[in-house]
Amino acid sequence: MGAVTEQELVWVVDNDWVVLSQPDRRLCRYFGGSPRAWCRESAVAILDRSTNKALSAWWAYCEKHLYGCRLVGNHVERLTYKKLEGEAS
Ligand SMILES: [Zn+2]
Repeated sequence: MGAVTEQELVWVVDNDWVVLSQPDRRLCRYFGGSPRAWCRESAVAILDRSTNKALSAWWAYCEKHLYGCRLVGNHVERLTYKKLEGEAS
């Protein structure tokens, strides 16, 4: 492993995601690949993709399509840089 300089990547809970406590009928809305196609796997978490929180727009995704986030227990974590000096919370 390389030396860590001023910051390091750490996993933090991303509260924008809501993990589905049990599978429901929602399917992954990821669209991509070649040829491009809908994923359609059972969703594990939903993300509010609205820009106006008064008009929430929950999009569901499977475990493979969490935008680089990961499912851990009952929450979703994302990678973020943590500054090693000046602890901010
Ligand atoms: Zn998917």
